[in-house]
Amino acid sequence: MAQSPAPRLPGRHLVQVPGPTNVPERVLRAMAAPTLDHRGPEFATLFQEFMPLLQRVFSTSGPVVIFPGSGTGGWEAALVNTLSPGDAVLTVETGHFASLWAKVAAQFGLDVQTIATDWRSPVNPALVRERLSADAAHAIKAVLVTHNETSTGVTSDIAAVREAIDAAGHPALLFVDAVSSLASIDYRHDEWRVDVTVAGSQKGLMLPPGLGFNAVSEKALAASTGASLPRAFWEWKPVLDQNASGFFPYTPATNLLLGLREALGMLMEEGLEQIFSRHLRHSRAARAAVEAWGLELLCTAKEAYSPTVTAVLLPEGHTDAEFRKVAHDHFGLALGAGMGQLAGKVFRIGHLGDFDDLSLIAALAGVELSLERGGLPHHHGGVAAALDELRASA
Ligand code: PLP
Repeated sequence: MAQSPAPRLPGRHLVQVPGPTNVPERVLRAMAAPTLDHRGPEFATLFQEFMPLLQRVFSTSGPVVIFPGSGTGGWEAALVNTLSPGDAVLTVETGHFASLWAKVAAQFGLDVQTIATDWRSPVNPALVRERLSADAAHAIKAVLVTHNETSTGVTSDIAAVREAIDAAGHPALLFVDAVSSLASIDYRHDEWRVDVTVAGSQKGLMLPPGLGFNAVSEKALAASTGASLPRAFWEWKPVLDQNASGFFPYTPATNLLLGLREALGMLMEEGLEQIFSRHLRHSRAARAAVEAWGLELLCTAKEAYSPTVTAVLLPEGHTDAEFRKVAHDHFGLALGAGMGQLAGKVFRIGHLGDFDDLSLIAALAGVELSLERGGLPHHHGGVAAALDELRASA
């Protein structure tokens, strides 16, 4: 017998997963445009308008390659453009996304060397330095780190990783996944001498999913000329060659790029510094709520608390699937699931992108109501604690 549909939930549903994030109406309207000739002069103008702003967001004066794709495509592009079969890469497994990137590297036959973590703490730069110092033959060609591990709510210090590589005197390239940090957490591609920064459209950039990015250093470009992993669609060179006159070698995602111009304009209007402090402030309020509920944060290192996502351990005997179903079915609230080895054990609150105090409080109220409705042991007062934190830092 067919199941009867769930009764309609009135009101606006909240999607507070840590990406895709909410797309502002201005961006939606900018994308609702008639077909644009991607080989015509209007397109070249569009490209010339958004590219300098995009570079500002990455904090780079170098090229940013845009692909129709996602963060996963960006991971692959970083690897295939710079490396050759059998090359070694050093990864720090800070969580699910770091482990998925390592898996892509392994699928290309790269020799993946891993520094393990407990999935509750950031990259330890001292261990990176130790591993690189031991690699006297310089077999390791790239170090892969995730700036903000979306699966755990842990942020790593990329400047410190850069220093560790320098201190070891090692020539490895530095690749950083900034998928859930770009345009939300302070990020400096040039200053930290990152060789490839990987990002996607659907988080801090406030766009729908559909674009993958690689910001590329001169050193990475030089490596690409000698790299021999197979590549076609993800090859940087034809994109950069055509970008020089404002075009792409294939049909780009024109309407997403119209949205990108609008979203970048909005980021500039607010100001990147202001955006970074807004995310920090909201994350402090979210943690105040978790503490008041008497629940445990997954991240155990205070200095590494993520400004964009808070991962919370579920009380014994409860799973994220059951808790997220209560939030979804009763309150129209989508929360992030536990991923990989954390499946069943944590839920995640996303607080990034186009986000304000009221959105945060609504999401936290949804969590508090769901804790009660689901019968999970907790104390009341999380929302009140978050409000106090917001008031204190208004
Ligand atoms: N890296 C991080 C840190 C992510 O959070 C995600 C997705 O959430 C990815 C990579 C994968 O990106 P995508 O899902 O856009 O392929």
